[in-house]
Amino acid sequence: MTDLTTLGIAAIRDGVRDGQFKAREVAEAFNAKVAGARALNAFLVETPDHALAAADAADAARAAGETLKPLAGVPIGMKDLFATKGVATTAASKILEGFVPPYESTVSQNLWNAGAGMLGKLNLDQFAMGSSNETSAFGNVVSPWRRPNDTAALAPGGSSGGSSTAVSAGLAPGATGTDTGGSIRQPAAFTGISGIKPTYGRCSRWGTIAFASSLDQAGPMARDVRDCAIMLEAMAGFDAKDATSLKLDVPNWEAALSADLKGKKVGVPKEYRVDGMPAEIEALWQQGIDWLRDAGAEIVEVSLPHTKYALPAYYIIAPAEASSNLARYDGVRYGLRDLPEGAGLQDMYAATRAAGFGDEVKRRILIGTYVLSAGFYDAYYTQAQKVRTLIARDFERAFEQCDVLLTPTAPSAAFALGEKQADPLAMYLNDVFTVPASLAGLPAMSVPGGLDKDGLPLGLQIIGKPLDEQGVLNAGLAIEQRAGFTARPQAWW
Ligand code: GLN
Repeated sequence: MTDLTTLGIAAIRDGVRDGQFKAREVAEAFNAKVAGARALNAFLVETPDHALAAADAADAARAAGETLKPLAGVPIGMKDLFATKGVATTAASKILEGFVPPYESTVSQNLWNAGAGMLGKLNLDQFAMGSSNETSAFGNVVSPWRRPNDTAALAPGGSSGGSSTAVSAGLAPGATGTDTGGSIRQPAAFTGISGIKPTYGRCSRWGTIAFASSLDQAGPMARDVRDCAIMLEAMAGFDAKDATSLKLDVPNWEAALSADLKGKKVGVPKEYRVDGMPAEIEALWQQGIDWLRDAGAEIVEVSLPHTKYALPAYYIIAPAEASSNLARYDGVRYGLRDLPEGAGLQDMYAATRAAGFGDEVKRRILIGTYVLSAGFYDAYYTQAQKVRTLIARDFERAFEQCDVLLTPTAPSAAFALGEKQADPLAMYLNDVFTVPASLAGLPAMSVPGGLDKDGLPLGLQIIGKPLDEQGVLNAGLAIEQRAGFTARPQAWW
């Protein structure tokens, strides 16, 4: 019998529906994989009973002859940034250690309503701030990938590194991610899986622990483009509880998948040819261009002139919003409280925040508070907002000439854990290709394109027009079909 953990979301859904196997067998198989992979540190909490209960509900529905829900029998991993009722939710921070939400986030509730089960809560960079998972207060996730004849631990990408690891190591057929400046796309690229950040407003932010509210978007991470489409359909949708949620029906992205790009134009932004880009990334990008041309698309060069200001603008806007969002962790209402003997309220705030937040989170709060302070607000925050507008305008102009854009996802393959930890700027540079689409609120996806000289995955990014997830998914599918990417990490854990 096939190892059920080799199956993706579509195959599990179809197999359960057609009676090839029971949902319970699927959940049991993945639960065992999760329990056997603790060396990867991908899960902060394991919830095998949740996965089994959802599976039993799917099997019972089938036995009763009911129409199965879209994700019936599919167990998934949940990034620990989504509040889950009755299940500890920490954002990988000590400040939320022991916090058990009395409510469920909209995105996770949507997935349970669609029949999915939860294998557990996935590790991440603390408050989703980071690109390597090293800012987690509960130990970093280790990528399942290794260089040949080398046992050095590699970064799974971040911030959704538990999600990328769970999917690429076969511990879950799909997982939720969130993306503020690249946190779905970069970890997907580092681990050879697919992930899509939809248009800002497609997925409700309600119940998702906030980092930078004008940028945060949830999205799926899965083995292929079809699985991403299926999962995104379940996650997305209008929610009155999020004021920035878009009041739009969720398209049937899976049904409209097509790798035929005849009549489509693909833009290649010349400013993404950054200095020092490794030749392999450059070569993969050219390969991607050729694949999309082969799929029928016309290739055009476009210009996004303000690209070089995107990273500095992001690292002002995101910390500014974070400093405001994270003000709520004060030791009063929930989470950690550090109340030194005889201390007053101010001392309690200070002691709690000093003990609860990690270094990177503190750095962002300091930067954010600084750029929002009266004397520097105009020089930094207002300027960054203006740059954000210019970047959005660059994309609008580019999309007058093309339907989607093709770029590399990240400027390198996975780096070793520890390699960039001491240098925040080197770490921030990882986001150079992903933050522009975030600032403009555009849908963007990473799909695996190939391997580098060390056998590590490299990703290609497709950026689309607002609300054109379909165009993004279809271009992703065209690449997927041509790349024939089947590499998987060898289990060493
Ligand atoms: N790496 C980026 C950062 O640290 C993006 C994080 C994210 O998208 N959540 O801000």
